[in-house]
Amino acid sequence: MEQAWLEELREFIAIPSVSADPAHRDDVVRAAEWLSDLVKRSGGEAEVTPFGERELVIGEIPANAGNGSAPTVIVYGHFDVQPPAPLDLWETPPFELAQRDGWYYGRGIADDKGQLYTLVKAAQLLSERRELPVNIRVACDGEEEIGGHTIVDFLEQDERGADACVIFDGHITRPEQPEFCLATRGLVGFHVRVRTGARDLHSGIYGGAALNAIHVLMQVLSALVARDGLLADELREGRAPLGPDEQHAAEVLPSGEILLDEAGATSLDQEAAAQFYTRTWAEPSLDVNGIHGGKPDFVNTTLVVDAHARFTIRLAPGQDIEQIQSAAERLMRTAVPAGAELEIRRENSAPPGRMRPDMKAIQLGLDAFERAVGTRPLLVRAGGTLPIVPALERKGIPTVVTGFALPESAVHSPNERMRVEDIPRAVAAAQELFRSWAALA
Ligand SMILES: [Zn+2]
Repeated sequence: MEQAWLEELREFIAIPSVSADPAHRDDVVRAAEWLSDLVKRSGGEAEVTPFGERELVIGEIPANAGNGSAPTVIVYGHFDVQPPAPLDLWETPPFELAQRDGWYYGRGIADDKGQLYTLVKAAQLLSERRELPVNIRVACDGEEEIGGHTIVDFLEQDERGADACVIFDGHITRPEQPEFCLATRGLVGFHVRVRTGARDLHSGIYGGAALNAIHVLMQVLSALVARDGLLADELREGRAPLGPDEQHAAEVLPSGEILLDEAGATSLDQEAAAQFYTRTWAEPSLDVNGIHGGKPDFVNTTLVVDAHARFTIRLAPGQDIEQIQSAAERLMRTAVPAGAELEIRRENSAPPGRMRPDMKAIQLGLDAFERAVGTRPLLVRAGGTLPIVPALERKGIPTVVTGFALPESAVHSPNERMRVEDIPRAVAAAQELFRSWAALA
């Protein structure tokens, strides 16, 4: 890789832009300024813009090739990083870019500073040769790792729109096989509380006659959890089944059996391993995340009158938050015995997102990646939630979420790394992508 790139990457990685740690607040701003300067050095304009509570980097590298009606492409990435702890597990200091055994090491090299860098670098190289056929709009945030919403708010109010968006912030299963993620699950989280009396009671005096809040909470949660591997029909309404390309990806990616086994997990039911991708890509799921009631740490005989729990539902692509929330509430209310008090509070939520694979930008992108890296990307979904995807979907902006990090990249862990060869590979793929999107004009 070119020495100049290495120096730039080294500088970017050296800024400890840990968004979760208030002590690094200034470093997050410094990383924003560094990125803004990179955009300016790339023939563009950029500024660190306070928007809402946090600053974004918003910039533009104008097209300098083509017939004057260049399409606009949003480049999203995040310049904040996860905390590096535990420090003693790092073989070299987290904020010093190191190279060994064919890998670059450093916090953020894969998630996401290193990958974001390759997108801007691709635009810069094309611009320098006066071959940039699309307007690049850089829209990046420094709070992705803490679940910030500022970039989504910005994109929602930005009336200018765009013709496509690319995000390099993902990992692929095998280095030789690129993947485009076109759909993400949504999320709705609840806190529920059951009260069955004014105070805890003696189970010897009242047991068998008075209602126990933990029992009611168990009934309420049982009304929701999966039976035979699937949630109740009313919680599955609206889900978009896998398309043929996604089905194909599910067949060639590592089997569910391997993935469950590697995670040390137990299969939910007999079909779960075989249906791993359908279950995590095209079905909603519900997980109770915590439950509290009584005094399980002591021997006691209490009849408990107050219990609470938190649970989250991952919504399948195509599902609607309000509809699923109402269905969940109905199921819970129906399960409450007379006299018990059930309080339901909806907490966090984010919609699912889905890009149609037949969109021109997606098809051009698949061709471009195939030319650049020699293999056509698989079309995959993510079981996780990425609020920027539905936000762009609502704006009608086709979005490709991809990247070159690998399962071994140790994202969010000590010794985060990217293969040395994947930095120039990512830059080459991004250049080919930008060139191909000239046809969106
Ligand atoms: Zn990331």
